[in-house]
Amino acid sequence: MERGLISVDRWSDGSQAYFLTHLHSDHTRGLTSSWSKGPLFCSRITAKLFPLRFPGFDLSLLRVIDVESWHSFSLISPSSGSNTVLHVMAIDAHHCPGSVMFLFRGDFGCLLYTGDFRWEGTSKRAERARATLLNALQDNAVDVLYLDNTYCNPSYEFPSREVAAQLVADIIAAHPEHDIIIGIHDLGKEELLVHIARALNIKIWVWPERLQTMHLLGLNDVFTTKTDLTRVRAVPRYSFSINTLEGLNSICPTIGIMPSGLPWTVKPIECDDKHFGSPLTHQNSKSGEIQMGNLNGNLGLVKKFHKYIFSVPYSDHSCFAEIQSFIGLVQPNNMKGIVSSSSCYVDPIYYFGCLCKASQPAKKLHCKHENKKGGSQALAVRRKLYIESGKLTKLETQRRKDRKADYFGVRLKRFHSLRRIQRGAKIADIDFSD
Ligand SMILES: [Zn+2]
Repeated sequence: MERGLISVDRWSDGSQAYFLTHLHSDHTRGLTSSWSKGPLFCSRITAKLFPLRFPGFDLSLLRVIDVESWHSFSLISPSSGSNTVLHVMAIDAHHCPGSVMFLFRGDFGCLLYTGDFRWEGTSKRAERARATLLNALQDNAVDVLYLDNTYCNPSYEFPSREVAAQLVADIIAAHPEHDIIIGIHDLGKEELLVHIARALNIKIWVWPERLQTMHLLGLNDVFTTKTDLTRVRAVPRYSFSINTLEGLNSICPTIGIMPSGLPWTVKPIECDDKHFGSPLTHQNSKSGEIQMGNLNGNLGLVKKFHKYIFSVPYSDHSCFAEIQSFIGLVQPNNMKGIVSSSSCYVDPIYYFGCLCKASQPAKKLHCKHENKKGGSQALAVRRKLYIESGKLTKLETQRRKDRKADYFGVRLKRFHSLRRIQRGAKIADIDFSD
């Protein structure tokens, strides 16, 4: 795409249209209440939440893009001065409320920008996003896939959020005498909190601004700002720390639960039945029942990193196997990770170059899923075949689990160092020479 047409999650001068995938702060850096560089396209839910995040923003700049339908508008080519038509479709990214990926089409070809996304294989919502994407792509090739590569490393494996949410509910149920705090961001993890509230029939405390967000999202009955109504509090992630937990425990027994795909920094306390089982079985041990059955074999997913802190792999980003599944479905000609400032950055081409149509032989080191269907078969058919061959992915995931290999030798050093400093791309700025 020619320089000077559009930017996605990037807010500097020089573009005619700006696209926002979602409202997390690493995607809005540079966007302020007084920003006015051009029209800003986003989903309907993002537009609804926008004034709370950017009070005083000139709302006439906001353009809502409804999901699952094509929108077209004209831009001017900076080089020729002639009109060029851009077609765009927003597709549910299943990451946080309002998050979408953008599919662009025009004279420049076809580009897919995922923003942050979770590509679960199980939920109805994920199935719908998959069907939408397939319908939108049909047999058109994606020239460049801009991919959320946050967890593009085989060491990252998570269960579905449904499973992880039940784990959190089980931990809370197993600590009936404890206060609970759960670390969350300004946006995201709402489904987890609603699941806990319904499973345990309790309300959940949130801070006042967060309650406003919940109300804007239509979640009116589950949340409260009154501390005496509940023992479960969702607190800002920045205030969730060992120090906080130790301070709270000097007043009242409290445990912290961190729902995240990122591991904690310190080595986990042994999490076998002996160490972890006792708190979980405590409640029902009085009646002689064993509560471990509730975890359905998922006990190993929960880590206890500190005597007061549990970490549960509830992730709003895709794990490695899901990224693989997504790339296999899209089969782009080329791709680029949008997370570039992480200490564990992995170029997705490294693992998945062979799933691109334009292969990258020098980088096919670990790829086991060569596309053997050949060029004669229509792309749409190949994409559907890839979905049906999903069993391969499961086998490969199990194989990796058994081996526990860390191909890259990447060691996860510090929780905070893994956060992305900035996301987004001015499309024309990306250089594919690497
Ligand atoms: Zn995000």
